[in-house]
Amino acid sequence: MVLGAGLSGVTTAWYLQQAGFGVSIVDRQPGPALETSFANGGQISISHPEPWANPGAPLQVLRWLGRDDAPLKFRPTTDPAQWLWGARFLFECLPARAHRNTAAIAALALWSGERLRELRARTGLQYDQLERGILHLFHTPREFAQAPARARQLERFGIEARVCSRAECLALEPALAAGAETLAGGLFAPGDESGDAFRFTRELAARLQENGANLHWDSAIRGLRSSPGKGIESVEVCDAQGRHSALRADAYVVCLGSYGPRLVAPLGERLPIYPVKGYSITAPLLDPARAPSVSLTDESRRIVCSRLGDRLRVAGTAELNGFDTRIRSERIRPILEWVNNRFPGAIDEQRVEPWAGLRPATPGNLPVIGRGRAPNLWFNTGHGTLGWTLACGSAAALAELMCGRTPPLSFPFRLPR
Ligand SMILES: Cc1cc2nc3c(=O)[nH]c(=O)nc-3n(C[C@H](O)[C@H](O)[C@H](O)COP(=O)(O)OP(=O)(O)OC[C@H]3O[C@@H](n4cnc5c(N)ncnc54)[C@H](O)[C@@H]3O)c2cc1C
Repeated sequence: MVLGAGLSGVTTAWYLQQAGFGVSIVDRQPGPALETSFANGGQISISHPEPWANPGAPLQVLRWLGRDDAPLKFRPTTDPAQWLWGARFLFECLPARAHRNTAAIAALALWSGERLRELRARTGLQYDQLERGILHLFHTPREFAQAPARARQLERFGIEARVCSRAECLALEPALAAGAETLAGGLFAPGDESGDAFRFTRELAARLQENGANLHWDSAIRGLRSSPGKGIESVEVCDAQGRHSALRADAYVVCLGSYGPRLVAPLGERLPIYPVKGYSITAPLLDPARAPSVSLTDESRRIVCSRLGDRLRVAGTAELNGFDTRIRSERIRPILEWVNNRFPGAIDEQRVEPWAGLRPATPGNLPVIGRGRAPNLWFNTGHGTLGWTLACGSAAALAELMCGRTPPLSFPFRLPR
């Protein structure tokens, strides 16, 4: 029984079903991917394994304090979990920790990319995907000067990326020409992709159902019942009419995004996950020729952009602000300005759909994949900024672990005791 039907839950159910398990999914929403997996940046960004927690981050966050348009914003609350997460984040900024985390994410991302391509070849799934790579853009010469070192680091992890001059960037993505005055150069990763995570998850959930999976929608999980020796015995749920019931399975996988830690805390499980809020806008194209089709990451502004069929998705910003999912106009404004400055006339501004979601983030951006304390409790959660990139690989790895096999990659999985 997979708890949660976002990217992590639905891919987990898929790989478990492929491995021969009978699967069911439980989610409080009326369908799949209606929370954080709904409108993310759309990037399969294997070329961005570096976590936010890196040696330069503490100073950068201090510089951004008090700025409403800061790419990473800390809004202090009275929640001790927020402060604990912040302290662990600082620990993960130590050079050795950041290096270890980057290497583990790179390994999982590469494996995940292979699993995604395999899944697509097998199912023929369509989700506005584009295999045109990701172009990382640098708008100051100082930032661009770091591009060769980043390319060499990626190469050491087996990830292809090449440094591009300004002219090469414009040749790769001609739509950049209209707003490229400040562009210093780029880093192009041809193996990266983009696509609509919501469509992908919805299509995959439909396949799961066709293959016999039980999908329980509108079922809010109130708690997990356990007993010593037996592990988890049932999941208490409440449906849309307020009726309570207990659902039972042999094993349970927690994929509940930012809400997982609260549900498993009574079992003595401490998941190091805290919500990091992000925003996106999605807009229909007014003039497709003015919009990019290569997926872009603006490294100077921490904004990403993906073409999803006849729409443009632009996402960014990170806010440590508890479980508040309200859309703040001062956080949407810089994203809109970014599109209008870089790609004037590309989108229909009258039909912009703003969105905010909570990234289920661990301090070092490493997801929790593997076994819980109870013998029949498993986790595949905490993918933070890279839940789309890492979805297929994490789920395939968990299925391997649940079959008693070790996934063939170097990653700190929570292994069976
Ligand atoms: C602005 C933004 C941009 C992003 N861009 C990218 C990107 O370009 N590339 C990338 O790789 N990643 C990106 N991400 C990250 C990615 O979207 C997330 O890591 C991913 O969606 C997390 O998936 P999940 O399944 O863990 O969580 P969710 O999608 O939130 O799924 C959790 C599910 O659990 C359910 N649930 C929770 N509590 C309960 C309960 N009590 N009872 C029943 N059900 C419950 C929810 O309804 C939900 O369906 C971005 C995120 C944001 C916010």
